[in-house]
Amino acid sequence: MGKVLIIGAGGVASVAAHKVAQNSDVFTDIMIASRTESKCKALAKAIEDKGLVPAGSIKTAHVDADNVPELVALFNSYKPDLVMNLALPYQDLTIMEACLQSGVSYLDTANYEPKDEAHFEYSWQWAFKERFEQAGLTAILGCGFDPGVTSIYTAYAAKHHFDEIQYLDIVDCNAGDHHKAFATNFNPEINIREITQKGLYWENGQWVETEPLEIHKPLTYPEIGPKESYLLHHEEIESLVKNYPTIKRARFWMTFGEQYLKHLDVIQNIGMSRIDEIEYTAEAVDGSGPVKVKIVPLQFLKAVLPNPQELGENYEGQTSIGCRIRGIKDGKERTYYVYNNCSHRAAYEETGMQGVSYTTGVPAMIGAKLFMQGKWKRAGVWNVEEFDPDPFMEQLNTQGLPWHEIFDGDLEL
Ligand code: NDP
Repeated sequence: MGKVLIIGAGGVASVAAHKVAQNSDVFTDIMIASRTESKCKALAKAIEDKGLVPAGSIKTAHVDADNVPELVALFNSYKPDLVMNLALPYQDLTIMEACLQSGVSYLDTANYEPKDEAHFEYSWQWAFKERFEQAGLTAILGCGFDPGVTSIYTAYAAKHHFDEIQYLDIVDCNAGDHHKAFATNFNPEINIREITQKGLYWENGQWVETEPLEIHKPLTYPEIGPKESYLLHHEEIESLVKNYPTIKRARFWMTFGEQYLKHLDVIQNIGMSRIDEIEYTAEAVDGSGPVKVKIVPLQFLKAVLPNPQELGENYEGQTSIGCRIRGIKDGKERTYYVYNNCSHRAAYEETGMQGVSYTTGVPAMIGAKLFMQGKWKRAGVWNVEEFDPDPFMEQLNTQGLPWHEIFDGDLEL
């Protein structure tokens, strides 16, 4: 049905590429392109060795996704129907620009962040709306789990279970154990930037700011039990309160263990989460004397931390992510909790990656599949909740992320 080009060969891209190959009736041609082509080749071989697609059928390429002309040259030579941007949020704008210049549709899982400022918001990507509309191209934003599935859960609740959604709490628990003293579950640089930011939530038509991780409380997760959960700013809140204006309050909660927070504290206190460039004098490794070296501490830290892609093998336990919603149906108040639990081990056995990469890569494939099938194809720039949630919810059940519902239970919030 269509040609797909995946950019990135990290944890999320690895899962998405496996799932794309499992759906090769829809994805007739696959290319994986990234900064380090050897990783693309290794990924293509791992998928082909599993017999998911014929040997040699997945193409690979080198591309620097910060470089628009390089991207345009690749898109013009491969001519994909859709580019799945599974690199980093820094590359969103260059890849969108290249898609426009080459006439290709676009999908991502995280909104744009400038490299030199730990700040994310949709305005930069929403600014492309008119150009995508005029070009007759589709851009699907935020098609991972959160954002992504959580946004679709909200759309599904609004379509089937509520006349008016009033309170939305997105709850994200990782109750897994990777047996490392400290590691992040996706790109460490992006992850630490997100968590060390000020908290933010929406209440009565305005944003309320908190100190980082200031607000927290124990929440009970299905099959897991109570876990301390911390209020964070998360990008899907921005588009959901715009698309569902009846929402009076929207918040995002994520669990962290004591050990994780202790390390994070130390990292911040000693300046290793800094994202500005610093210069220091080091002894040259060849003994030729002192040399001036420039580093960004957080990027250096990423290089010494465990690679999230290598956590899978010993990862036990599960993730549990969902939406807890309160609102009105037929004149009465009701509550609704919709969630998925994902086993790290099952994710690893299927794709070689842990649950956090899995819960992001599977929805990215589903969004791409619905685009290829014409169900989610519409000129413009869209957050996922603006499409019909029903075919997506159906696919979640068959592609490895089944969901469950609790009606009129205690939301704890
Ligand atoms: P990784 O760091 O594992 O992978 C990133 C990949 O992008 C690597 O292959 C890297 O190449 C490549 N890359 C980086 N810069 C460039 C560049 N300039 N040109 C080409 N390729 C580049 O990250 P993850 O797989 O963990 O995360 C991928 C994305 O998913 C991120 O945007 C993250 O924010 C998002 N995410 C979304 C979630 C959601 O639920 N919505 C949850 C988790 C993640 P190299 O190998 O050379 O470093």
